[in-house]
Amino acid sequence: MTVGIIGGGFLGMCLATKLSSQNIQVEIFESQDQLGGLATWENYGDFFWDRFYHVILPNDNYLLSFLEECGLGDSLKWKKTRTGYYVDQQFYSISSSAEFLTFPPLDLLSKIRLAFTIYYGSMLKDWEKLETITSKQWLIKTGGSKNYEKFWKPLLLAKLGEFHDKVSAVFIWSYIKRLFEARENANKEEMGFLKGGYKSVFDKLAQIVENNKGKIHLSTRVDNVELDTTGKIAVHYGGMNRSFDKVVFTGPTTLLKNTVSPKLVEIKNLSDINYLGVVCMVLVTTKPISPYYVLNIADHSIPFTGVIGMSSLVDNEYTGEQYITYFPKYVNASDPILDDEVTDIRKVFMEGFSKLYPGFNSENIVSVHINKARRVQPLQVLNYSKTIPSIETLHEDFYVLNTSQFVNDTLNNNSVAKHVERFLHENLKQFTGAESEFNKAI
Ligand SMILES: Cc1cc2nc3c(=O)[nH]c(=O)nc-3n(C[C@H](O)[C@H](O)[C@H](O)COP(=O)(O)OP(=O)(O)OC[C@H]3O[C@@H](n4cnc5c(N)ncnc54)[C@H](O)[C@@H]3O)c2cc1C
Repeated sequence: MTVGIIGGGFLGMCLATKLSSQNIQVEIFESQDQLGGLATWENYGDFFWDRFYHVILPNDNYLLSFLEECGLGDSLKWKKTRTGYYVDQQFYSISSSAEFLTFPPLDLLSKIRLAFTIYYGSMLKDWEKLETITSKQWLIKTGGSKNYEKFWKPLLLAKLGEFHDKVSAVFIWSYIKRLFEARENANKEEMGFLKGGYKSVFDKLAQIVENNKGKIHLSTRVDNVELDTTGKIAVHYGGMNRSFDKVVFTGPTTLLKNTVSPKLVEIKNLSDINYLGVVCMVLVTTKPISPYYVLNIADHSIPFTGVIGMSSLVDNEYTGEQYITYFPKYVNASDPILDDEVTDIRKVFMEGFSKLYPGFNSENIVSVHINKARRVQPLQVLNYSKTIPSIETLHEDFYVLNTSQFVNDTLNNNSVAKHVERFLHENLKQFTGAESEFNKAI
């Protein structure tokens, strides 16, 4: 059995690792010159780390067991981190119950309502009802407008930028479940990372796939996928082609239409999908910038919507004795900033940085990087599960598995690992002829 996998992001590589471990011969086609997609890495001079920031939560069970299976369990490190808020030009830590109780922007009644919202959200099971109202409406209804303005809006802005009031309540519900359940389980705000960042994951997955006789084609954009004359699925790239028993497409749905023959797939409602993009400045410094893993910002004069103090989580022995901090701004995929010159973005973001941290000596800045991605995540707008582009594969040997199919999950690699597991549970028999051994509880 030969399987072609289009896309060498975490999803494609997770699938390739699992299929190749079942003696299936896989070939991965990745258009970029390195694996990883959104979870890929950058060379920051003295060290490699993620292009965008990634954290692992204690309740990321699917991801953690996959990493363990791959022999990466020993590379995991855990640390207690802090969360901050920048409200009314002041920094506040909300990293413990005591800090929460003394958070000045909220009075006691608001805090009680906030605690109730979090508890109520984490207990809710029927997410489909939440699709009909926005996160903003649900949060105001459940916890009041003061809580919304001072607590939830900065958090939504940090995650969604201008779309903070457009997503359905499923977004905030899945966020509350993922983040607050993690804290409850671990009884503290402990977060995880891998020594070497996600580069170490992709290096390991590539090694497993190649040891299992799989092939990885980098800098290889697939231009077309169609049925060949023998009934196999042909993948065309750079003037060449390879035919497979089965092909799985893992790239964004918006690219599917231009890449795959209409004889293999029918896509409806494609125009309804709205992707969120991101522009992210990364500073490498000789001194730490932020004590918080996440700083949520409620200040429109700051050009980015959050600060991710990666070095508050990752000890600097893993980052060349330097400190790494991310400054993301989430935007519409069609926002012109995604086409702006890097130097223009750098200028605006650095002005925002100086405003937020006026005391930081610029001599301690080693390097400034600007990273962008146009298609990070389909926006979970109102009634997303009903308006999601419907993808019907028209041939039993062609499959689509991508993150636009996550209707009640936030985008993260635990969800990716879960969806790969579910896919294998549902389809492995067609790949191997054997019953699936994959997690039957899904
Ligand atoms: C700013 C940011 C922060 C994040 N933080 C976290 C976090 O803290 N924790 C967490 O778990 N997750 C986080 N994530 C999410 C995580 O990065 C994603 O879950 C994951 O990368 C999705 O992987 P994927 O393979 O589904 O998609 P992608 O990474 O988009 O991979 C798709 C791949 O397909 C390739 N491709 C597409 N079309 C073709 C073609 N025609 N031919 C060949 N190749 C093609 C693309 O080049 C790409 O490499 C974050 C993401 C971002 C952007």
